[in-house]
Amino acid sequence: MIYCDFNATAPCRQPVIDAMLPFFREEFGNPASRHGFGLRALEAVEQAAAQVARRIGAEVDELVFTSGATESNNTVLQGAGRRGLLISRHEHASIYRPARSLGARLTDPAELEEVLKDGARLVAFNLACHETGELLAGVPELARRIHAAGALFHLDATQAAGKIPVDVHELDCDFLSFSAHKLGGPKGVGALYIRSGVELPPLIDGGGQQRGRRSGTLNVPGIVGFGAAARLADPARFSSCARDRFEELLAASGLPFELIATDRPRLPGTSLVSLPGEDAGKLVDALYAAGVAASAGSACSGRGSEPSRLLLDLGYPALTAAGAVRFSFGAESSIAEAEEAAAAFIRIIQATNRKGVVDVN
Ligand code: PLP
Repeated sequence: MIYCDFNATAPCRQPVIDAMLPFFREEFGNPASRHGFGLRALEAVEQAAAQVARRIGAEVDELVFTSGATESNNTVLQGAGRRGLLISRHEHASIYRPARSLGARLTDPAELEEVLKDGARLVAFNLACHETGELLAGVPELARRIHAAGALFHLDATQAAGKIPVDVHELDCDFLSFSAHKLGGPKGVGALYIRSGVELPPLIDGGGQQRGRRSGTLNVPGIVGFGAAARLADPARFSSCARDRFEELLAASGLPFELIATDRPRLPGTSLVSLPGEDAGKLVDALYAAGVAASAGSACSGRGSEPSRLLLDLGYPALTAAGAVRFSFGAESSIAEAEEAAAAFIRIIQATNRKGVVDVN
């Protein structure tokens, strides 16, 4: 099986699992306890916090551990997005859905000036789009304009962290979310950067853990795994070779593939390919049957696949949005794997009849 779904999640690296194991076994303490079990757990959490903070150039006390980027994003939106919120068309559902229920407006970074005049207090943008892989351009300049208008700036760096350099000082953001499982760590643990001096009420209140910023007993094994994964995930080792070879083979096949957003700066491992008129969900099923795990850029429902909401918002035709399949490679993906994935996809398309029914036999 060739795994081409790293934007969905990455496998937990072995050193990460090794680092976590003692905290499931003998070192099971609660870091809030005063005795040795608690103190050793606290020490491990503090070491992990330093590793995670270093990955984004933050100070340890600017970091809050959460249950994942979904919670981090919701914390920012619920805490700072109630008095005028702007989001882009590239947002993940964990921004898009709460933002819409808070009455947010969609904007293009290029039109930001106009919309900021209406008094937005929070701007939330995706640093690297999970579907297209597109990178948000000109971030320091965007930050300057947002701050000049008196608003706060949130970045969702869930797909960016570990794949490209992320430094909160260079990005000049006030908040930044990311998640362990996208960079080789465990699922169910994430982080939120809150710039020193910026006030943000907690989403989850209770026992006052993490200086009152997020209550709940800390997920010690998860946090330790996050620290180890953050230390190992080096963007310098993440090349675009596998993705580029994959796209080169699709382009050379002469089949009517549409490669999306290839003319813009993108994450090094992401390739969004559409076959307009096809059903992405069925293509993903056929790919899995052929030994390749990819994903549809669309949400599947019981009645078939819905076209990707994000691609429709970006102005792609409905047929393109419905036929979009995302292949996402990791730092460890090989060129041989990319070649096999491309060959399988080409075989599937060649076997697809004109009615759009996939028949790989
Ligand atoms: N933001 C982006 C851009 C994502 O791609 C994802 C996950 O796919 C999330 C947020 C949510 O992350 P988590 O699974 O940690 O809640």
